[in-house]
Amino acid sequence: MIMNDRSEHNKVQIIYNCRLPEQTGFFDVTLRGEHIEQVSSRVGEDIALESVLEEDLISNERKIDARGGLLIPGLIEPHIHMEKAMLLHRMPKEAASLQEAIAMTVKLKEGFTKQDMIARSLDVAYRINSYGVTTARCHVEVDPVLGLSAIESLLEVKDRVSDRMDLNIVAFPQEGIYAAPGTAELMKEAVKLGADAVGGITYMDPDLDEHLSFVFRLAAEYDLPLDFHADFSLDPCDRGIMQIARRTKEFGYEGRVAAGHVTSLGAMPREEAVLCAQQIAESGVHIITLPATDLYMNGRQDTDNVRRGLTPVRLLLEQGVNVLYGANNIRNAFTPFGTGNVMDIAWLLAHTAYMGSENDAKLLVKMGTTLAAQVLGMFNYRISAGQTADLALFPVASERELLIERPKPLAVWKNGKMLRPIKTAEDY
Ligand SMILES: [Zn+2]
Repeated sequence: MIMNDRSEHNKVQIIYNCRLPEQTGFFDVTLRGEHIEQVSSRVGEDIALESVLEEDLISNERKIDARGGLLIPGLIEPHIHMEKAMLLHRMPKEAASLQEAIAMTVKLKEGFTKQDMIARSLDVAYRINSYGVTTARCHVEVDPVLGLSAIESLLEVKDRVSDRMDLNIVAFPQEGIYAAPGTAELMKEAVKLGADAVGGITYMDPDLDEHLSFVFRLAAEYDLPLDFHADFSLDPCDRGIMQIARRTKEFGYEGRVAAGHVTSLGAMPREEAVLCAQQIAESGVHIITLPATDLYMNGRQDTDNVRRGLTPVRLLLEQGVNVLYGANNIRNAFTPFGTGNVMDIAWLLAHTAYMGSENDAKLLVKMGTTLAAQVLGMFNYRISAGQTADLALFPVASERELLIERPKPLAVWKNGKMLRPIKTAEDY
């Protein structure tokens, strides 16, 4: 056994003839065990792109001809709900507003069992992994209806997918903490059970200050990061994000807090939004735009000149805020679409946030990898010697082509382990 472990630990893989993000030319990337050992440039070669993978296995060394494909760090999904995904067939009708989507989902939650939540969550996990995701943060609901059953289910899913993906679990009080009595105790229990982050929501409890006090104190007590659902509206007076930014600084939590949606910021006059963005940047709060849900849910009450309903991505980036994107929901009342392909979300954002240039495509891939990693406390997430070998190899010649074509990867590596063929839920 010890011999096997050692040989696995030293196993060498050379991915040669690959392209790398934001670089020109071709590279050879050598992996040893779980890590990237070396990245070297191939001088003076021009390799025609081919969508096949050539492998050579010689004793303890595997050589993989990437044929000019693009090797990127494994994609990171920073905001997804797994146990309430894949519910279309159970919905009585389409939800016509955020309130209706929440109410409809509360009803459906009453019928959730652990087995059912695990099955749907595994489906989502395998789907996103098949598109190159090697790390995901999921918001898992904690409320008097589900109790701790969703958290327990996702802890099991985390364990079952650990060879292909790190799952980061946020204890998420979707129904509010005080609006749903009993949730405060359950949140504490969820953290003790093993949640990786404390969640919060600005639009469910009557007193936001009280809500923020609770979640910040809980996070500080267990030294966990925080991740919010914030200001999901088109009302420019919704400024929960500013209270989150202020509390972040008070608690010395700069860089450890994220907030999803924040669409009300997009409804503010530009000068005000700039001032808010500057304070968000100072607090180091990461903003996660969720374009599929935000575009689908917001602006529905507008009868003409319908508002788009996104957070102002470009403005936030210009002010130095770390902006990321996530799928949020897949096939439920909030978002009745989704394949699990992260690049679909990047593509949607590229259209709706006017990010169509070649440099924008590079930025979008960086937002889905290196920059998303920062939310999870990984600050050196890139392809360089010494880093963990979480990688995805795509049959494309550039980031722009990746965004346009959005193919499945030819191979994915998690902690140096090559995952190919990529399994989907049907294989289990
Ligand atoms: Zn969400």
